[in-house]
Amino acid sequence: MRTFLQKKELIMIALTVVVCAVWILVLRRPKHNVTVQIVHGQEVVREFHPDEDALYHIEGDCGGLDVEVKGGRWHVINEQCPNHICAHTGWASPEDMIVITCMPNDIVIQVSEYTYETR
Ligand SMILES: [Zn+2]
Repeated sequence: MRTFLQKKELIMIALTVVVCAVWILVLRRPKHNVTVQIVHGQEVVREFHPDEDALYHIEGDCGGLDVEVKGGRWHVINEQCPNHICAHTGWASPEDMIVITCMPNDIVIQVSEYTYETR
């Protein structure tokens, strides 16, 4: 009699689930000393720490954009680009590690450095 799933397959599936769960936990660990960098072309034009509320204007290839930092998160506003995908990406934070990209302006906003709290 053949069962629908072989024992080996069940083990593989269980392992995959466990690995995913561990990976999510690792990614979700609180991060410290987070640095976010804003890259225009190949050049880092600004770095900021998300725990300092601020508004940065970044020059880009089609007018640039503003990056608003508030409460540990950041997002794009006042974007001068035709598709507004960067603004629609919404808020990014150290937890979700979302990379905000504005293709028309050739600007990328991403977490560049962080440390985990060690206890
Ligand atoms: Zn854009």
